[in-house]
Amino acid sequence: MPEITRRALVGSTSAGLASLGLISAASAAEPAQEPANLRGTVHGDEVTLPPLDTQADQNGKVPSLDPFEKRLGIAVVGLGRLALTQILPGFAQSKHVRVTALVSGERDKARIIAAQYRVPEKNIYDYTNFDSLKDNPDVDIVYIVLPNALHAEYTVRAAQAGKHVLCEKPMATTVQDAQRMVDACKQARRKLMIAYRCQYLPEYRTLIGMARGKSLGALRSIEATNGQNNADNGQWRLIKAMAGGGSLPDVGLYCLNAARFITGEEPVEITGRTTQPKDDPRFKEVEDICSFTLRFPSGVLATCSSGYSYHENRFLRVMGAEAWAGLDPAFSYDNLTLQIGRRAGQSSSLEQRRFSPKNQFALEMDAYAEAIAHDRVPLTPGEEGLQDMRIMEAIYQSAASGSVIRMAPTQGQGLDITRGPAPADDS
Ligand code: NDP
Repeated sequence: MPEITRRALVGSTSAGLASLGLISAASAAEPAQEPANLRGTVHGDEVTLPPLDTQADQNGKVPSLDPFEKRLGIAVVGLGRLALTQILPGFAQSKHVRVTALVSGERDKARIIAAQYRVPEKNIYDYTNFDSLKDNPDVDIVYIVLPNALHAEYTVRAAQAGKHVLCEKPMATTVQDAQRMVDACKQARRKLMIAYRCQYLPEYRTLIGMARGKSLGALRSIEATNGQNNADNGQWRLIKAMAGGGSLPDVGLYCLNAARFITGEEPVEITGRTTQPKDDPRFKEVEDICSFTLRFPSGVLATCSSGYSYHENRFLRVMGAEAWAGLDPAFSYDNLTLQIGRRAGQSSSLEQRRFSPKNQFALEMDAYAEAIAHDRVPLTPGEEGLQDMRIMEAIYQSAASGSVIRMAPTQGQGLDITRGPAPADDS
C-alpha cells in the first residue's frame, strides 16, 4: 500500500494528485524526514491522512479553551508549505480560533485537507469565488498565506468582504501596497495583523523585558543573522516580482523586526549591502546575502544579515554594558533557548533558560482573536509591517547608492509606536 506524506501534497496539482497512487513509499518526496504521525496511505486515487486536530483533545493540557462553537473562525488562504506543515497543525493547540474555511487553487488538495480538519465542503473556496466569503458567517478572519506579491490583493479583498485579516510576513512587496492594505482595513473597520510570530513567544517577551529593564545594563548593540541554503526549484522566492527581493524580505526581515521590537525604537540611519553572485542561477533576479545596519536614537547599533546560500544559521544577541542575552537558534519554529552571559567577579557566567514548548502559530492566532474580542489594536498591526517595508526599501536604496540613508523622524512619541499592547500571558 503506497504511503504519502503531507509534504508531498504541498504544491501538488490536480494531475499530480491523481498520480499519487503510483508513488511508492520509497520514492515519496521526503518520507524520511516526515514525523510518523503525519503519514497517510493511498488506496487507488484516495488519500487518507490522520487527523491533526486530536492532540489538544487527547492530552487535555491546553488551558482556558473556548468551546469550539464560540471560537473565531479562520479561512486559511493558500495551502502551501507553511499552511500545511505549521499553521493548520497549530489549530490543535489554539484556545480561541478554529479553521472553518480553506481557499486554494487546487480543489482536490483542498478537499483532502478539509476532510482532515472537518471543514465542510461548502466552505472550500478558490481565488475566483474568494469574495463570496462575505456571505459566510463561519469566517471571522482571513489568514493570507500566499506568495508575497499576492498579499495586498487578497488583504484588500478580504477587508472589502468584511473580514479581519491576518497576513503573513513580509506584509507586501512594496511600501505602496502595504499602505493600501492598511488603508483598506481601516476603511472597512477591520483589524489587520501581520503574522510576526516571534513577538508572541515567551522567549522573546522575556528578552524584551531584559533589554528594556536593568538586567543587561545600558543597551549597546544587537547582532542578528538569519540564513539558509535555498534550493533552486523554480520557486517564487527567487522571482523578484513575486517575492519583492531575495533573502532580505524572506528571512532578513526577522532580524530587522527583532532589532525594532527589542529596542522599541525606530532607526534613524540605515546602511545596506547585497551580493548577487553572477555564476549562481538562483540569483538572477534577487540578492543572496544582505547585510545591513540600523542606528537607533538611543545610540544602539544593530548589525544584521541574511543569506540564501549558506547552511542554516539563525541567531540573535543583545549586548548591554553588564550582560548579554541571546537566542540560538533565534527564528526557528522550536528549540529556542535563551542564553544569558553575565559578569561574575573577574570572569563571566552563562545561564541557559528553556521555556515550555508552544506552537508559535497557535500563540499568534490566539493573541489576534483576543485583540478582536476586546477591540484592541493587535500587537503587530499593519503599521508594524508598513514600517518594516519602509526600512527594507531604505536598505536596498543604500545598497544601490552606497550611501547612508537617513530616515524621516517617526510620528508619535515614546517606544513601540507601531505596535498595540502585548497580550497577557495566560498560559
Ligand atoms: P508556498 O509556495 O509553499 O505556498 C504558497 C501557496 O500559495 C501555494 O501552495 C498555493 O496554494 C498558493 N498560490 C496561489 N497563487 C500562487 C502562485 N501564483 N504561485 C505560487 N503559489 C500560489 O509558500 P510558503 O507556504 O512557504 O509561504 C507562504 C507565505 O508565508 C509567504 O508570504 C512567506 O513569506 C510566509 N512564510 C512565513 C513563515 C513564518 O514563519 N511566519 C515561514 C514560511 C513562509 P494553493 O495550491 O492551495 O492555491
